[in-house]
This record gives sequence, structure tokens and C-alpha cells, in this order.
Amino acid sequence: MTDPHQSAAPAGNFIEQIIRDDLATGRVERVVTRFPPEPNGYLHIGHAKSICLNFGLAAQYGGDCHLRFDDTNPEKESQEYVDAIIADVQWLGFEWAGPVRYASDYFGQLYEWALYLVDNGLAYVCELNAEQMRDYRGTLTEPGRASPYRERPAAESRALLEQMRRGDINEGKMTLRAKIDMAAANINLRDPVLYRVRKMAHHRTGSEWSIYPNYDFAHGQEDAIEGVSHSVCTLEFAANRPLYEWFVDNLPLPSKPRQYEFGRLNLNYTVTSKRKLKKLVDEGVVDGWDDPRMPTISGLRRRGVSAAAIRQFCNSLAVAKTDGVVDIAQFEHFIRDDLNNNAPRAMCVINPLKVVVTNCQQGELLSAANHPNRPELGERQLPFDAELYIDAGDFSEDTTLSRKKFKRLVIGDYVRLRGGYIIQADEVVRGSDGEIAQLNCSLVAGTVGADGPDGVRPRGVIHWVSAQRSQPAELRLYDRLFTNPEADGGDGELLEQINPASLSVVADARVEQSLAEAPLGVTYQFEREGYFTREGSASDRLVFNLTIGLRDSGRGQG
Ligand code: ATP
Ligand code: MG
Repeated sequence: MTDPHQSAAPAGNFIEQIIRDDLATGRVERVVTRFPPEPNGYLHIGHAKSICLNFGLAAQYGGDCHLRFDDTNPEKESQEYVDAIIADVQWLGFEWAGPVRYASDYFGQLYEWALYLVDNGLAYVCELNAEQMRDYRGTLTEPGRASPYRERPAAESRALLEQMRRGDINEGKMTLRAKIDMAAANINLRDPVLYRVRKMAHHRTGSEWSIYPNYDFAHGQEDAIEGVSHSVCTLEFAANRPLYEWFVDNLPLPSKPRQYEFGRLNLNYTVTSKRKLKKLVDEGVVDGWDDPRMPTISGLRRRGVSAAAIRQFCNSLAVAKTDGVVDIAQFEHFIRDDLNNNAPRAMCVINPLKVVVTNCQQGELLSAANHPNRPELGERQLPFDAELYIDAGDFSEDTTLSRKKFKRLVIGDYVRLRGGYIIQADEVVRGSDGEIAQLNCSLVAGTVGADGPDGVRPRGVIHWVSAQRSQPAELRLYDRLFTNPEADGGDGELLEQINPASLSVVADARVEQSLAEAPLGVTYQFEREGYFTREGSASDRLVFNLTIGLRDSGRGQG
């Protein structure tokens, strides 16, 4: 793991170097990048890296970044995904140049270019089925064999392609293939398929098309149409680059884009594959793409992670020509850092223990700063009453615990209530079941915002709320979704690596009165407990999602 402080704002990654050279030599006049999601799922944290990189490069070099949907596979795509992706890119804080673009806008032009290849003897209609095609393709060590349809006359291929396009050919019967080199060491060049028959409605073009281009035939040509200068993608496409260049060299394209690959973001304990995330949704492991445990942009948002934290994390990542795995702790560092600086403070008692302040004559209103170092965030009122709640974990019957080890309440000793009085614990009151029902305490007068008299030295500071003037709240405590740091590595057993304790619900926590009307989506630091965000549900019941604990190791108390 790299130190995030060290790697923030890198001096210049290898793509920036290429761009600077291209601008200096005049190969490129204007930098145009694009973020090209396929609308077959929601965006995840891995996509955020690509978004920050592409929009960041355009901004840095005074160019444009396009948002273009790679919607060439109607089977898996939908308008729901398009809408979610647009919302997520906007929420992340990026603005694309021009309209939202779609590969499907270019279907007509792509088809024209397919005909061009056919007419120039560079593509043919092949009637091998999928299995035969695999067999003819050869292996890494053996060359492929030519399809028996490879040398059919161009006019015949053209007529068949037109029939495919009209819907006269059944699925699986014919494909259009580029005529490149069946002996190429790179298997992508062994007469790759350009078009398949797919009798399937498309979410944008309806039933207009019966054939759809595959990724390789679409992507570079879309880049060329849009004047993309630097087409940045992840490393797994490196082997597709020669094919990308073959189209650039062999088609009359309006511009000559180039592809560059960088290492994708992999995070331990995290799955960054839309296919796998979809499985979690489909199998009901989570309650949707925006479940707060999901590494999706929408899940992170619902959990209370800010767009700024995501951007800062992404900008801290190396843009390299190798893949690596980033420690989730690096992401969490940016989440905490952002919240520590920005989240208003509040008090929430997770496991309430009633305290009766026996010498409290009447209730009063104390006030507390919303943030320790940001006076501009103002103050709120804290009702103080004779009956309070503290956390059961902040009291121990073991009076032999040293002051150093246990900085909380024991009988006969003192603690400070955050923003309030110093109190002393006097007596435990038990219920009929023998359990502690209540703690009788006494306050030390004159200690709000002031030290105690001689001999009154609090062991520590604990949080609290008034019993009457506080609100019941439900807390949803999230832990990692996966138990295995390498959950993304394997395939089969994804569902066996789910952390059974990834969600636990506290039904009866108490939050301070000022949170009665807490706005949805605002993240608070519940002092000594963690960062929590009001859940975006319509019910008036208060529900807070745990965004993240205060420290690396869970929600430990101080
Ligand atoms: P997935 O495997 O999750 O479906 P994908 O690459 O198929 O991802 P696309 O919608 O095609 O998803 O991705 C859009 C862009 O985001 C591509 O340029 C892709 O390279 C990039 N991208 C996807 N995953 C990551 C990742 N983990 N890290 C960096 N960039 C990514
Ligand atoms: Mg993809």
C-alpha cells in the first residue's frame, strides 16, 4: 500500500506524459477523452477511478471529456442503468462536454463501415456456428484455419449482410467477420466477429436493428467519430489494441484515435465487477444496487461517503501499466479524513443505561459546538435533565480497574459528560431480574465548561443524552460484505464468502434531541461511536447508516 499522503497529486503519470508529448509534437491539437460505460449495471468504485482519470485529464489539458454509453449489447442493458450512471457521474461532480452520447447513435455509421470493409474484401459473412468457429480459431500455440466462407465474393457477403440487417437471417446462423490473419499470434486478429444477428429490442433503437456490432468494432470507431484523442481503458484491453488499430488503419475514419491502457482498480474485501455485483442483487444478498454495503457509487452515497472523498482517493491512486490490489484501508483513510473535517458532531447512545442525577433540581439547556475546529458550523442545544442515558459500556462495576485503563464510570469516581457536567457514580440500582436497571449519580455544580474543584478529576469524557428529551433511533451497523480479502479473485464461491454479520441492526438507540429533524443524507460524527448518515427513507422514524467507524479497527470506543 502506498502512503496516500505521498501519492496524492502525482507529478505526472505515464498518460499525462504521452499527452504532453502529443501536444508538444502537434500530433494532437486538442485533448478529448471519454468515459464509456456499458449500461449493464451500476457504477462501482473501480469506475470512479476511470471517471476521475478521464475527466481529470481533459480538465488538466483544457480539453473535453465525453460521457458515452457503450450500448451495443441489448440483452444486458437497460434504461434504468443509463439513468443511474448519469446520476452517479453528476454526483461525483463531473460535467461532460456536449450531450450524453450513445454507441447506438452511431449504429447507422458503423453499418456503413461494415459494408465498406465487405466491399473492399476486408470482411465476409461467415456461416460457421459458434462451436465450429471456436474449433477453427486455433489455440495460443496453434494457428487457426480459414473459414470455408472466407473467400466468398464480396457481392455475396454484401447481400447476406443486408439480409442479416433486415432480420431475414436467424440468430446464430451467420456473422460478419473481419478478414485479417488466421495465423496471427494475437487471437483477436484471427478474423474477429464484427456483427451478430440478435433479434432483440434495444432500449434506445427499439426493433430497428437485427444485428449488433461487438465491442471491438464499435469502440474505436465511436472514438473516431467523436474526435477522441486518447482512448484510455483498462489493461485487459491491451490485447485488443492491435485490432483497434487495424480498424483505424483500414476504415475511412474522420480521426485517428489511439488507445492506452492503465491498471484497473482492485480493492481487497471488495468486488469490482458489475456481473458479480448483479449476482449479489439478483440473489438477494443485498437489498439493491444501492445497498450501503455495495461498493457502487450509489451504495457509497447512501452510506454517507462523500463525492470528494471518492475523488481524493481516486486521485491518490497510481495510474500504472500494471494491475495491483489496493488496501481498502487506503480508501477508508480518505473517507474518515473528509468526515472528520466536515461532519457535524452529535451524541448517540447505542446501548442505553439510565442514569438518575439525584441532585439535579431542574432541566436546563446546555450548548455544544457542532464541530471542534469549525466555529462557522455553529452550535446546538443539549437538553440536560435529571434522567439521562449513557452507554452501558461506559460503566463498570469493577472498581479495581485503573484510571488509566478504564476512562469511564465506576462507583465512587468521576467522569465528564461531553459538553456538560462532571458526574460521580454513587449507586447501582438493580431490577427484579438482578440486572443493572439504573445508576444513581450526582453532578458536581459549576463544572459545565470548567474544571472541578480539588480532588474532582474525571477519569474521562463520555457521551450521553437526556432520557426524556432525546429521540429513539434505529442504527444500521455495516461491516465488510466479504470475509475474504480476495473475494474478487475466484468466481464460483462468491456467495460463500459473504460476511454473515455484514449488517446488524440496533433498534433502540437514543440520539440527542437536535437530530429529531436531521436532514437525509447528512453525515454526523456520533461522538466516540462513528460516522452515521440518516437513511433516505420516507418514514419519519430516525434511521442512521453507519458510514464508517472512527478508527481502522471497527467502532471501538475511546
Ligand atoms: P465490469 O467488469 O464491472 O463490468 P467493465 O469494464 O465491463 O467493468 P464498463 O462499463 O465497460 O465496465 O466500464 C467503463 C469504463 O470503466 C471502462 O473504460 C473500463 O475500463 C473502466 N473500468 C471498469 N472497471 C474498472 C476498474 N476496476 N478500475 C478502473 N477502471 C475501470
Ligand atoms: Mg465492459
